[in-house]
Amino acid sequence: MLLHLDIASCVRATSKFSNCSKCIDACPDSVQLVDNLPSFANNTGVEAAACIGVCPTEAFSLSDFSTTEFFFSFLESKVRLISPKFNVPCISVLSVEHLISLALASDEEISLDLSSYDETSILYEQIESRIEEANFVLSSFSKKQLVTNIDETVVTDKNDTKSEEISSRRSFLGNVSLKGVVKHKMSFDEAVVADELKTFALDAGIIAKIREKNLPDKRKILFTTLKHVGIPEKFEVLTEEDVSFTSQKFVDDSCTNCQICYRICPTGALSSDGKFSLIHFDAMLCVKCRLCHDVCEPNSIQLQAGFEIKEFFEPTQRTLAKFDIKRCDECGNNFTYKGGEQTCPRCTIEEEEAMFLHNNAKHMQAILDEKSKDS
Ligand code: SF4
Ligand code: SF4
Ligand code: SF4
Repeated sequence: MLLHLDIASCVRATSKFSNCSKCIDACPDSVQLVDNLPSFANNTGVEAAACIGVCPTEAFSLSDFSTTEFFFSFLESKVRLISPKFNVPCISVLSVEHLISLALASDEEISLDLSSYDETSILYEQIESRIEEANFVLSSFSKKQLVTNIDETVVTDKNDTKSEEISSRRSFLGNVSLKGVVKHKMSFDEAVVADELKTFALDAGIIAKIREKNLPDKRKILFTTLKHVGIPEKFEVLTEEDVSFTSQKFVDDSCTNCQICYRICPTGALSSDGKFSLIHFDAMLCVKCRLCHDVCEPNSIQLQAGFEIKEFFEPTQRTLAKFDIKRCDECGNNFTYKGGEQTCPRCTIEEEEAMFLHNNAKHMQAILDEKSKDS
């Protein structure tokens, strides 16, 4: 089984300012940085693939196993045990979102077989921490929980199918409606400076793919699964550190409306309008890749301390910032007006430079005049 990396989906390929290292932290022996991009230390095969489950943008995949396919085949089977002994190459290929979705979509309790893992290994720690996070998030709105099973007991009738509400994989994912979540989706136009991408020697096809905004399948699965869950009477707020796969944000007054974060966001969670007069944010589209934070020079975009579970059931598009867009008196281009003269930053800089050169020339002329008087 081969491990593939779709570099176009990696946020590091989108910007050299990205600090994402989740795959490297998860698989330090297999993945390393080469020219600022993740690369396999050894791509001949895999025993564990924790990088698959941890990558926020699903940049990694396996040649003979699809997590999306697994979600559907598992639900269609009678088996309620997830085990590397017969139905997954490693439990670490499943993300927290997959685990939550599986628990919610199954009528019966799901067990995860950890019997073949070394309890002292980093891999075991990572799998355990994902299960803990999934159970913690689940406990805020549902009675369902995942259980771990360290026995050798394995249910083997995996070919037995049962008729579930979800009878067709195609229709399940085909019904994903992000209506109410995505109200404005800006095209990626010039967001990524082509020259910057060329430094990675990426070909035109990959650059074109980077410009698309794609929501990973695991988020579509979670979003659709949540639509089948009853709305809780009370919505809890979880601390930001306890949710690794999405976030809520705010933008402070230091924002210059440089447009980078909402143009570069890989999923469209951050967006704007046609005049670039605001910053919108959809938490259900955010995969917490942190790219927007990494590219924001004044550090204006920040994580909200708590994540409101209400977003799962009543997704809203929040306006994080609004800007006064005016036409520059000098060049006629639109710019973010912050008060004072109605000139854009470029014209203001040009004016300042012209003034500096003019004063400098005057000063030089005065020196020359003085010298000619003396002689
Ligand atoms: S986006 Fe995925 S592939 Fe890229 S650095 Fe982050 S975890 Fe690795
Ligand atoms: S939040 Fe930061 S990156 Fe986004 S527009 Fe404002 S200054 Fe630019
Ligand atoms: S809003 Fe920021 S953290 Fe969320 S997906 Fe977009 S770039 Fe990543």
